[in-house]
Amino acid sequence: MTETRRPTPRPEILAIAPYVGGASTIPGLSRIIKLSSNEGAFGAPPAAQKAIADGAEKMARYPDGSVQGLREAIGAHFGLDPARIVCGNGSDEVLSMLIQAYGGPGTEILMSQYGFSIYEIFGTLAGSTVRKAPETDMTADIDALLAAVTEKTTLVFLANPNNPTGTLVPMEALQRLRDGLPPHVLLVIDAAYAEYVERPDYDGGLSLVEAGENTVMSRTFSKIWGLGGARLGWCYGPAAIIDVLNRLRPPFNINATAAAAGIAALSEPGWEKMSRDHNTVARARVAAALTQAGIRVWPSEGNFVLADFGTADQARAADAALKAEGIIARMLVSYGLAHCLRITIGTDEECQMVIDSLVAFMARAN
Ligand code: PMP
Repeated sequence: MTETRRPTPRPEILAIAPYVGGASTIPGLSRIIKLSSNEGAFGAPPAAQKAIADGAEKMARYPDGSVQGLREAIGAHFGLDPARIVCGNGSDEVLSMLIQAYGGPGTEILMSQYGFSIYEIFGTLAGSTVRKAPETDMTADIDALLAAVTEKTTLVFLANPNNPTGTLVPMEALQRLRDGLPPHVLLVIDAAYAEYVERPDYDGGLSLVEAGENTVMSRTFSKIWGLGGARLGWCYGPAAIIDVLNRLRPPFNINATAAAAGIAALSEPGWEKMSRDHNTVARARVAAALTQAGIRVWPSEGNFVLADFGTADQARAADAALKAEGIIARMLVSYGLAHCLRITIGTDEECQMVIDSLVAFMARAN
């Protein structure tokens, strides 16, 4: 008799499509400008590149599982207690750990309509029900989020600035969200783009973490620090939550070279300010030029802009026009934003190429 039974995953796993990040190739083109994943415009800081090149000798032994040196470097740079930091293989892993710990069957995870996609993916995989609150003007709506909280809600995720919209919730609204949540609900402020924000009162959510027991902040080395390929992120939170995350953190989740690269990146003099200053000026230049060309550009506090072409057909045609010149932007069909493209702010030269390409596209389209 033939055995017909097969290994069978939980059904929610088959409901999820494999995660694909921004594309990095265009068939037939060897020279491409990748503006699809919001990596920093300048690559890795030289000190981090040296640490990576020197990394070979570190790879024979298991790394320090607690990455103490890296946590101390993060603590010193950002003025935080290293004991209240947990590092992850990308901030994605930190977000996954939070969901493993506080989500699961019978729980609800709340996010906003155009919030970062990984919350829904990890939440669904964990067996949580994922609810989305409507947004206003491509921005998380605090009242809508609070209205969507139920007694099953255990986690609320808010990327601030948000990817893919770029919009920012002001600190007083963030405070209102936190104050309105029942005390058992954990608020996760995903501040992957924090270093790019120029607003004087913005602190990434740190003041909220410090003021209570139910808020954590996640951060990454993938953006301004230029280490997307190293996979390095971290979470700062109350001691009790950090203790929980340390219990479920996979063994040796940060490889030795990535940890060394992270420490070195933070030591690079002036890197953060140089990158932020460039981004602020270049982002304004791209936004102004695209607006002038008739494209709606949503206000962004990140290192990317959301360009709104009005219809999915126009966005697809704009994407094709960019691709024809080797420029890869991010299509957002899976976000329900098929009429938009997300474009990372690259170097001045890359920004100029985007501008030239889209200005010409709009002239042809009109
Ligand atoms: N949060 C947000 C808002 C992001 O945009 C990203 C990267 N696209 C991440 C988290 C994950 O970043 P990483 O895993 O590279 O740290």
